[in-house]
Amino acid sequence: MTVYGCATPDCKRMISSSIVPGGSPIAHANPEQWSLFGFSCGACNAMRCDRCAIRSIGACGCGQSLRIAIRPRPPEDGDASSTAVPASGTDDERAHAFAAMVAAQTGGELVEYSTVDFGRERRDGARTLLLDRAGRREGEQGIALVRLLRSMGLPPGVQVFANTLRNLGDDATHAGRDHVVFVASRDPFEVIRVADVDPVNHGLAAEDVVAQLMRWHERHGVEIVAADTETVVFRFLRMPEDVTELTQEIVEFCPDLEETFEMEPDTLAKSPWVWLWWD
Ligand SMILES: [Zn+2]
Ligand SMILES: [Zn+2]
Repeated sequence: MTVYGCATPDCKRMISSSIVPGGSPIAHANPEQWSLFGFSCGACNAMRCDRCAIRSIGACGCGQSLRIAIRPRPPEDGDASSTAVPASGTDDERAHAFAAMVAAQTGGELVEYSTVDFGRERRDGARTLLLDRAGRREGEQGIALVRLLRSMGLPPGVQVFANTLRNLGDDATHAGRDHVVFVASRDPFEVIRVADVDPVNHGLAAEDVVAQLMRWHERHGVEIVAADTETVVFRFLRMPEDVTELTQEIVEFCPDLEETFEMEPDTLAKSPWVWLWWD
């Protein structure tokens, strides 16, 4: 087994790259000493543990972004539980434990609601991590954290997404902070309903967005990282060789993309990321 030390100066953890399915039992039993995940920096080659990567929201000390380089092989039972969250318990217990762990590591504040309508209204049923923006643009920290957590694999029965990319509410609790929402659900498209995505000016409702995303998911695999009143951010996991037809479908479903020039004929050929936005 190759062992790396975390490059963060005040971190003493080591990174296990065991080939044991599900990760090294020793690493599992000693989370204070061992990380099952390693994140590397393409610029300075530093390797960092999962806690340091989450704490910095995926930013290396040198200023570049960290990328996942080491993760445990899937366990033999196929359940992709990957974090310090126990696989036992209900989905809601796991969602809470996962949110609490991420809150502890990022220093964000966990609140017992999520917001809809541009942050103006609170809803029960999900939890939100309010994250300091650290000088970045509104929404960027939230999306960076969700991408990082997703790269490690989410615990079973837990969905995570960045919400409220544009806050128009006057709740002082939310000022200057990004929203990352933790939902107990087996359905990855539940986040569209929790965010209450509402392209009402285009005659669409949240369920129409769910239905369209599910159609794309069947063909190309869809991974959602952000959703709010007017926006859905996702990536395709499998891209067709010819992106023309898929690009047309996206622009038909979200015509504003053509006006904002977010979606040109070759956009998907360059990147699998799609930023749906309805005026
Ligand atoms: Zn670096
Ligand atoms: Zn570390």
